[in-house]
Amino acid sequence: MHHHSERVYNFSAGPAVLPKVVLERIASEMISLPGVGSSILEVSHRGKVFTEYLNRARDGLRNTLKVPDEYEILFLQGGSRLQFAMLPMNFLRGTQKKAAYAVTGSWGKQALAEAERLGKAECVWSGEDQGFVDLPTAPFQLDANDYSYFYYVSNETIQGLQFPGEPQAGDVPLICDASSDFLHKPIDINRYGIIYACAQKNAGPAGLTIVIIRKEMIPSGNSDLPGYLDYHAHAANGSLFNTPPTFAIYVFALVIEWLNGEAGGLERMYELNHRKAKLLYDVIDRFQGVYRGHAKAECRSVMNVVFNFLDESLKEKFLMGAETAGLTSLAGHRSVGGIRASIYNAMPLEGVEKLADYMFDFAESNG
Ligand code: PMP
Repeated sequence: MHHHSERVYNFSAGPAVLPKVVLERIASEMISLPGVGSSILEVSHRGKVFTEYLNRARDGLRNTLKVPDEYEILFLQGGSRLQFAMLPMNFLRGTQKKAAYAVTGSWGKQALAEAERLGKAECVWSGEDQGFVDLPTAPFQLDANDYSYFYYVSNETIQGLQFPGEPQAGDVPLICDASSDFLHKPIDINRYGIIYACAQKNAGPAGLTIVIIRKEMIPSGNSDLPGYLDYHAHAANGSLFNTPPTFAIYVFALVIEWLNGEAGGLERMYELNHRKAKLLYDVIDRFQGVYRGHAKAECRSVMNVVFNFLDESLKEKFLMGAETAGLTSLAGHRSVGGIRASIYNAMPLEGVEKLADYMFDFAESNG
């Protein structure tokens, strides 16, 4: 059993595990940042100390994902849910154009529902009838004269489905919800109109939402939208339109530095993420009399490994044994059931090895 300050292997879908060295750093700087005499929680968002972290976060992200100058990086609040609404407010409301949505799981479905309230949002693909187990593979033949944007979710956190690469949508700008696989591998930002993510899964604590937006897409600032809901307000003010989530940005800066430092960079992280996911999927595939993976093999997520039991009654036993072994937060989302192991960047290989061993032993003794 885990007592007091001993750490477990936490497979939460989000907020989720953070690198231990980052947590230690935060703890050591919580009473006083070196040379400052106050913590990051206590200083002005316009002062020298926070400005340095804001720049480290922005520059660090720009370097890590090789974000071209044609793109702005915005640090916002409101979670990904606010983006579900802000995107159609800025790019759909008041136009004659439509927006195309690929509904590949729960989050794409929610985003479409929000957009439908604001304009002509069209579902161009849905996996719902099949139970969200696969993804579109054929290119979408869409015309930018008809569609403002094509929206998709790169990794469906609940169903554990992940696009292997960007879908093709003609000349229509791609808008990607990358909330649960942001920074898990190198990507070509030029493929996107906008890519965004809430931080609390793969990048930091809750409270911060990161939006990378092609500058030419930023509205002119003449809209009648409330200030906070207009991307222009944030871009024109360098993410200081209002007080940004300062603590979350500071932690994000530390996570980016960990990613490029101790973790060995994005390429290495991607290799490791693949190794980690394979360990779990291999056990699922080996014991097909016990486990059933949710996603079709070619759509499997390397971030959220979702599976069920052929004998549903084994779930509680599995979870109890896992908890005792120090493997926590493994229950699947209530809409899918079963187990979900979220193995984001900060989940160490040893944690996944321990889970794979546990799954192996569990299948041997319950198969
Ligand atoms: N999109 C995806 C893919 C998610 O996983 C989540 C959070 N589970 C959201 C959107 C919603 O994020 P938030 O709670 O920050 O609004």
